[in-house]
Amino acid sequence: MSTLTDKIAELEKISAALEPSKEERIHYLQSTGIYTSQFIDSLPFRNTFSNTKANADKLKIDGRKKNIQEVFDLYTTEVIDHGLIPSSGGHIGYIPGGGIFLSAIGDYLADISNEYAGMYFGSPGAVTIENELINWMKKEFHFPETAVGNLTSGGSIANLIALTAARDKHQIKNDKIEKSVIYLSPQVHHCIHKALRIIGLEDIVIRELELDDHHRINAELLKKHIDVDKLAGLNPFMVIASAGTTDTGAVDPLNEIGTIAKSHEMWFHIDGAYGGFFILTKRAKEKFNGIEKADSLVIDPHKGLFLPYGLGAVLVKDKDALFHSHHYTANYMQDANNPDLPLNPADVSPELTKHFRGLRLWLPLQIHGIDPFVACLEEKLYLTDYFREELKKRDFKVGPEPDLSVSYFWYPAKGVDENVFNQKLMEMIHEDGRIFLSSTKINGKQVIRIAILSFRTKKETIDVCLEMIDRCLQKTKLHFEI
Ligand SMILES: *Cc1c(COP(=O)(O)O)cnc(C)c1O
Repeated sequence: MSTLTDKIAELEKISAALEPSKEERIHYLQSTGIYTSQFIDSLPFRNTFSNTKANADKLKIDGRKKNIQEVFDLYTTEVIDHGLIPSSGGHIGYIPGGGIFLSAIGDYLADISNEYAGMYFGSPGAVTIENELINWMKKEFHFPETAVGNLTSGGSIANLIALTAARDKHQIKNDKIEKSVIYLSPQVHHCIHKALRIIGLEDIVIRELELDDHHRINAELLKKHIDVDKLAGLNPFMVIASAGTTDTGAVDPLNEIGTIAKSHEMWFHIDGAYGGFFILTKRAKEKFNGIEKADSLVIDPHKGLFLPYGLGAVLVKDKDALFHSHHYTANYMQDANNPDLPLNPADVSPELTKHFRGLRLWLPLQIHGIDPFVACLEEKLYLTDYFREELKKRDFKVGPEPDLSVSYFWYPAKGVDENVFNQKLMEMIHEDGRIFLSSTKINGKQVIRIAILSFRTKKETIDVCLEMIDRCLQKTKLHFEI
């Protein structure tokens, strides 16, 4: 008997390290507070991009114990110092991330209390917070109260959930797959194609639609395609529109597309991962007319509400369609399954146990209110105007008037292939690294993208960016001797 208690006592001594003392907790928190504050204050002075690599040897798990300062030092030299800094306002490439401070406090609280946000039974409070966030989004996007939704890790999983519901509602399986048609823009985010493969719809017919000169879906031609496909005995099943494409920020004509989809009893899905939250702004609001016609909608708070990575959302009108694949019961869960309780996040998502990710949005909304978020979105729209105006003054060509805060530009170089010139200019900008921009191809043309969505991107940032572009342009001209 004594050997048993001795053994337990011996193990207890070692495992006790997992519960730091009050003094240690304060020490960890203070050091973390100092380190992260220094990091935030250093952001304006850091390059946003560095094309260098982390040293894997230094990050190996070798069992050697380190103090927290050593770990912070490693984090600086091996993590922060390489690649992109998405928390920087200088991130104007891809779709920028955010990282508002109070989200980190929300995460901290969620992690310490470790509330179980999968089932209402486990944490009525945590699940209510998540459901209230979904209710708020339903209201802002004009979805009915009967719609259901889920907070996901991001837009990709949110799209996966929505497309699964669409598939199940229309029972697209077996030999129906090859006869069914999905209509979408060639500018649709690639996670849609990924999701279709994951849910077994690889062999479905995909019609890439024609776009207008603002890169939006041409709804008239959509109608024609559907008619032709119906005549050919196919099953037009779903239309996917974007409320802000990744490449050009275009908002498809949601209202017209929604009407067409309804008249053919098709599922209407909208991917608003990048642009959805601009619905909150005065200036862009009307671009979202018709969003309420969607059967499912994806929005990404870790983009449009400036949160750190790890929060997307999906809204779906047809609860049964969503339940078909996601709602399960099991003997070991019998205590938690009660149809009279509010919606369980686990019933509308592939996840069971999950991070209580709602708190990282709920807490900042409680403390800041909504106004600063809306002002920040509005500010991004005006900064995009400012950037384009300044580029035009410098003889750059800019893409069409953007719907939101993504646009593009190129330099009309003479005496050298334009694409080659702009590719080189992009390389020069990446080499400089102060501000990060990314490039894309629009109708075969090499262009540089502007995507303004970081809450830390200010007019000052754009001015630094312009100065960097001026300098890189000179260097590129020198390179080609023009
Ligand atoms: C970013 C993005 C996605 C993917 O979302 P993640 O959060 O990166 O998984 C999907 N659609 C659009 C339009 C996006 O901009």
